[in-house]
Amino acid sequence: MLRRTSDFTGLSSAAPVDNVRRDRRRALLEALAVGLAVSVAVGAAIIGLWHSATTTVRENYREYLVQLATAAAVQVDPVAHAAIRRPEQDNGPEYRAAVEPLQRMRTAIPAIRYMYTLILDGASVRFVLDAAEPGDHDGDGVEDHSAVGDLSVSPQTAKLEALGWNGQPGRPTATHQPYTDAWGTFMTGYAPILDARGRQEGVVGVDLDASGYVAHLEAARRDLLLGLLPAALMIVLLTVTVYRLRYRGFADARDIASAALHAQLAARKDRLTGLANRTLFMEQLHAAIARTSAGTQQRFGVLFLDFDHFKLINDTLGHDAGDELLQQIAVRMRGALRVTDAFGEDASGNVVARFGGDEFVVLINDLRTDADSERVAARLLQTLEPAYALNGGDVHSSASIGIVVGHDDRDSAEAVIRNADVAMYEAKRAGRACHVVFDEAMHKRLTRRVGIERGLRKAIGKGEMSLAYQPIVAVETGHMVSAEVLLRWVHPEFGDIPPAEFIPIAEESGLIVQIGEWVLLEACTQLAAWRREWPDEAPTAISINVSRAELALGGRLLSRINTVLKRTGVPAHCLQLEVTEREVMRDPSACNALMQQLRAMGVRLSMDDFGTGTSSLACLRDYPFDTVKIDRSFVKGLTRNTDVMAVIHATLMLVENLRMASVAEGVEDAAQLAVLQSLGCRYAQGYYFSPPVPADQLIRASRPLHAVNGDDGAIISAA
Ligand code: C2E
Ligand code: CA
Ligand code: CA
Repeated sequence: MLRRTSDFTGLSSAAPVDNVRRDRRRALLEALAVGLAVSVAVGAAIIGLWHSATTTVRENYREYLVQLATAAAVQVDPVAHAAIRRPEQDNGPEYRAAVEPLQRMRTAIPAIRYMYTLILDGASVRFVLDAAEPGDHDGDGVEDHSAVGDLSVSPQTAKLEALGWNGQPGRPTATHQPYTDAWGTFMTGYAPILDARGRQEGVVGVDLDASGYVAHLEAARRDLLLGLLPAALMIVLLTVTVYRLRYRGFADARDIASAALHAQLAARKDRLTGLANRTLFMEQLHAAIARTSAGTQQRFGVLFLDFDHFKLINDTLGHDAGDELLQQIAVRMRGALRVTDAFGEDASGNVVARFGGDEFVVLINDLRTDADSERVAARLLQTLEPAYALNGGDVHSSASIGIVVGHDDRDSAEAVIRNADVAMYEAKRAGRACHVVFDEAMHKRLTRRVGIERGLRKAIGKGEMSLAYQPIVAVETGHMVSAEVLLRWVHPEFGDIPPAEFIPIAEESGLIVQIGEWVLLEACTQLAAWRREWPDEAPTAISINVSRAELALGGRLLSRINTVLKRTGVPAHCLQLEVTEREVMRDPSACNALMQQLRAMGVRLSMDDFGTGTSSLACLRDYPFDTVKIDRSFVKGLTRNTDVMAVIHATLMLVENLRMASVAEGVEDAAQLAVLQSLGCRYAQGYYFSPPVPADQLIRASRPLHAVNGDDGAIISAA
């Protein structure tokens, strides 16, 4: 999974506010859309209802008007009606006879306000009969009753339709809308007056007071409007509810998303320094490898940093100071790599991560050349070099940097890290505060190392290991006094592997504890056998090398030795343990205590490789050693370098004064032996006498050894 920076910076403080705003807007828009849709639907329904209600009421009313007018029209005698045309006929006998049926009808139906007949006279419409009571009903001082021949004042389409207009025959009809004039608000029904032959004589008009109709219509509309109100209210409520629901939904989704993002970030962030952690780093490294194999980038670099003496600072100044140091380191690294992002990650996918402890790792994408990675490393070293202010004092902590440049996807992300780690160890070995680029030779060493470690696990108890014994000879007599036990291993694939190569690996992997146990038992068993079979020639003691991991066993080592000595019947004073000066100096006080206990058991102790460590001669006195073994490297320079001779002389004297015995290691020729003898060295060991040999050859090889002052140095030949 590839997470780009933008996803991470998406968590910046301004982002949630933006998100809330965006979600509000979205919820509002959705709610409004729903509200609008419902409004349209309800609106359409109401308009439909409104329309149908209005039309129904009106059409029913018009129908009624037409019926009234038709009923009136058939009551008018067309012949009598045709006879009345002159104004002087008004209210005359023919007139009254003709109008009488209309008057009867008008009084019978109170809703009828006016009833009259009309004729077309050329282009104008004239009154003929008027069923109204004569008089001034509207109080305007003018007689309401229209006289025969009066012009009709309201030119309505309905009236014209009834009269027959534009060549169309007249037909019963009614006004479409109420109209208002001096007499009130009316709607009128019209019906043609037809004679016996169906010819139109005129038209009856029936004016109905329309205020009832208007009220009715208004009531219907009001009812609808009243219906609209709850509908509108419902829509508002619906909109608000939708808004709230949607907004809450968005907010929940946002909470979940942001919680998930937070969790994701927390899982990818180093809590102490705020840098990326291993998880995020590995993700980005996987991505970098994928980009490189896809050809979108040529090469990337991984820098593995380990800080020198960090443990010491932690132990001496305390964990808080250690944490503070790590934080300061993180700040400097970010600065040096110009990674500004809070997560130690920048836009090009470069990452600064802390793997834990004092291990920091850097990924650089798009490296132009291999050498660029070293330039970055040099810049880092420079930035990290100045002292750190801690606990009011200055502390130096340089870094060792291992570099891997990746060109392809041949190696997995894990392998890249492992290789960078290996290169970092090389940097440490090369003297710290420097950088080392991982190369093929390192790769080979690593493969061999891994093979050795794997082989070691299997070798134990499989008979691949054996012991060789090298005589330690008394310089004066040339007699073997004891033998050093040296482990031999024939690897099924790699063949003979020197202990100098596999012992450190066994130590690091902890396998040395098991191996050492086997060596101890095997060697003691062998010594017991020699002592039984060759009581005179057997070495009086065996010298076994003990490693750091075994020393760390403390009491368990003591009981282990006790058990083996009991089991084999070897007396404690016949067992000598060789401990290197270096190991002793690692934890001097614990070592001293253990050595005192070993001495109390009767076991003898030998300081191995003396002169290669950091202890001063004076230190010798503080430890309960029986023997001091002067390192090969001194013996080598003995005959050529007078300074070395002086040092060895001083050492031998001191050893003598402390009542310890001295053993010179690596004596290869007679000249060395002669000088050692002249300087007062008591014992010697080396190829000059015998190489380490299998157990069955030791007695033969050393029986009897010639005295050193024998002629030609062919000491290891049988007499
Ligand atoms: P060391 O304890 O210093 O052992 C002496 C080494 O010097 C041996 O190497 C030995 O073969 C070599 N040597 C002896 N005489 C001469 C000489 O005249 N010239 C030269 N150049 N070398 C000579 P080796 O057997 O390869 O062992 C190497 C180291 O491995 C030992 O160094 C010791 O530290 C470790 N070692 C060997 N066996 C054991 C073991 O059983 N347990 C532990 N913990 N370490 C062991
Ligand atoms: Ca040794
Ligand atoms: Ca040694």
